[in-house]
Amino acid sequence: MGILASNTIDDFVEKAYPDMIAWRRKLHQMPETGWTEYVTTWYVYNFLAELGYTCFAGKEAVNSNERMGVPAAEFLEEAAERATEYGVPEDMLEKMDGGHTGVVAQLTTGRPGPHIALRFDIDGLPITESEEAGHKPYDKGFLSTREGFMHACGHDAHTAIGLTVARFLAEHKDELAGSFTLLFQPAEEGSRGAKAMVENGWLREVDAFLSGHIGIRNEKAGVMAARGVEFLATTKFDLRLHGVSAHAAAKPNEGRDALLAAAACAQTVAQIPPHPDGAIRAHIGTLQTGSGRNVVADTAFLEGETRGETSEVNKYVWKEVERRIHGAAEMHGVGAELKVVGEGVEAYCDTDFETWLETGSSASRWIERVDSEWPVQASEDAAIMINSVQQQGGIATYMLYGTALADGHHKPTFDYEEETLPVAAAALLHTISEYLHEKV
Ligand SMILES: [Zn+2]
Repeated sequence: MGILASNTIDDFVEKAYPDMIAWRRKLHQMPETGWTEYVTTWYVYNFLAELGYTCFAGKEAVNSNERMGVPAAEFLEEAAERATEYGVPEDMLEKMDGGHTGVVAQLTTGRPGPHIALRFDIDGLPITESEEAGHKPYDKGFLSTREGFMHACGHDAHTAIGLTVARFLAEHKDELAGSFTLLFQPAEEGSRGAKAMVENGWLREVDAFLSGHIGIRNEKAGVMAARGVEFLATTKFDLRLHGVSAHAAAKPNEGRDALLAAAACAQTVAQIPPHPDGAIRAHIGTLQTGSGRNVVADTAFLEGETRGETSEVNKYVWKEVERRIHGAAEMHGVGAELKVVGEGVEAYCDTDFETWLETGSSASRWIERVDSEWPVQASEDAAIMINSVQQQGGIATYMLYGTALADGHHKPTFDYEEETLPVAAAALLHTISEYLHEKV
């Protein structure tokens, strides 16, 4: 028995279901990549402010210096122009100027109780969405309106779930206790945004932290897991090589070949020996270099990442990457500029939530089955938030909401069952209700 009757939550979710679909589809049509979520930030901010939340956006929500992987100035300018065209007002654009996105919203019930924080990520991906029949967003007419950009990981769902939870909490404020902080986090892709929110202090003195993801595992909507396990630690990096150009036939000896150095870097990064304490990955995903057939390339740009089953193992991979890249650059006589642009850590969810979720869900018509844990086997920067809350004595979890997947995450035909939206909202609200019943 929670602090609220089970039907109060379930009926609310049922009524909100058509809205959730509408919000999700609207958000799906305007995907924005990390630190350029100008329109999404404005949309979320307005929604929450109207509900009575105390809202912080952009520069107020994130620590400017702790943002990782901020795009180039011209890309940010384009985003601001696009937002202006969309109707985002000047004062909001000012808050977001220079790639400061995301919203933090706070609600105090006025009754003593714990401080609960929830996190929802809001960014899309630089992927061109499929326009094939059979792809639901195409069939139903809610395709991305931005060529080259797509919500291909379900963060449109996460945002819609967040808005629903926010509305419930605001409307039932007088029946609840304690306080709530809702984090609509930018730049999850590439593990870039969580740290900037944590460093602004929003999770200080949080007693319970809830986060999650739809999909990951191909299950039907209604089935879910109380916590994710096997988060991979990761380091994302950019590498710039500076050589010296020369005529390839006349004066090759005067050149310092950034192309050969780049190739050597890519090869040696792929040859890092395994580690006895856990799986490793080291990968170069892009390599751009060269200006002409008969020219010794003077620059190269590479994007890569490392992963480790634990933070310790990832540290080992990253150290190897650094050593090998500097070695390869030295061998070719070129300069190497290695920059960390994203970071994820290992995380362990608290098991406490399972009981609350199970008790709550057993009385809910939205949730069919709750498993204890599912493996994530990917990196997720909510891990930084989970660790931060736990280090200060709070408890934290990352739930997984099952859905049949049309295709894998980050693919042009990625899609999910919208039936998972009410399941996720119900799971979060029932867990909160049970938790509050025990603590208050
Ligand atoms: Zn995702």
